[in-house]
Amino acid sequence: MIQELKTGIYHNEYREQSPAVGDYIIFAKGRSVLARKESDIIAFPRFEEVDAEMAYIYLFQIDISGKMQKFFLGDTDKVSDGLQNDYGYSQQNMFRTKGPDYMAFAGITACQLANWYASVKYCGACGSKLLHDKRERMMRCPKCNAMQYPKISPAVIVGVIDRAQNKILMTKYAGREYKKYALIAGFTEIGETAEDTVRREVLEETGVHVKNVRYYKSQPWSFSDTLLLGFYCDLDGNGQICIDEEELSLGEWLSPKEIPTEYDGISLTNEMIMRFKNGLE
Ligand SMILES: [Zn+2]
Repeated sequence: MIQELKTGIYHNEYREQSPAVGDYIIFAKGRSVLARKESDIIAFPRFEEVDAEMAYIYLFQIDISGKMQKFFLGDTDKVSDGLQNDYGYSQQNMFRTKGPDYMAFAGITACQLANWYASVKYCGACGSKLLHDKRERMMRCPKCNAMQYPKISPAVIVGVIDRAQNKILMTKYAGREYKKYALIAGFTEIGETAEDTVRREVLEETGVHVKNVRYYKSQPWSFSDTLLLGFYCDLDGNGQICIDEEELSLGEWLSPKEIPTEYDGISLTNEMIMRFKNGLE
């Protein structure tokens, strides 16, 4: 999965600090991020290439083969002409396909943080300008003391299995860019446990009842500001599918040999599908 780094160890501890020579500076806005042009691998500008006065925000560091590499956010309004000779904005989807793995994970995580920082400039309660807290990754209101932490929405990914037929419930989303097979997914609502979300989402999206809900793994999925919680569960009763056409374009039961999905090493959904395909669940 995208967060499982083969060549690095991610360190998320927040320490307010300034960038120095060799540190990476990430400029991200919406779904795009500044990266070296025409490069097969992901490369972000280093501090010494940025060549402009701006306020930087410390992000995180990654231990790459024993060397600590720091990452900061830069100000997208201050990207110099010189920098634009070598670097251009690319869609964040490149982090699904390009490496090295620690740069892909750093890039997508930085995008989520950049979008969060862009959304918390003012206090939602009193309208004052928010300030960076000195000790935590948090924005604080100097007037009413309201605190804003990074937005993370928990959501479930569900592998529903029909034990009698040895099939898994596969779906395709309606009206989305992503056209491949997926599993049932949905956001946890206030007042629900993650297991409640599993039962509700499967019923709402496919009309199917489930039992034996069991936790598998989680994944930080910065493409959608989400913490994904993966669960498997078993079909309870009739497997007749009645899809919610607002959410899904297709829902069907597939046996391991009918599953067209190939291993991608990126998403929890992919890992969970492959696990069933390979007879491990
Ligand atoms: Zn306030």
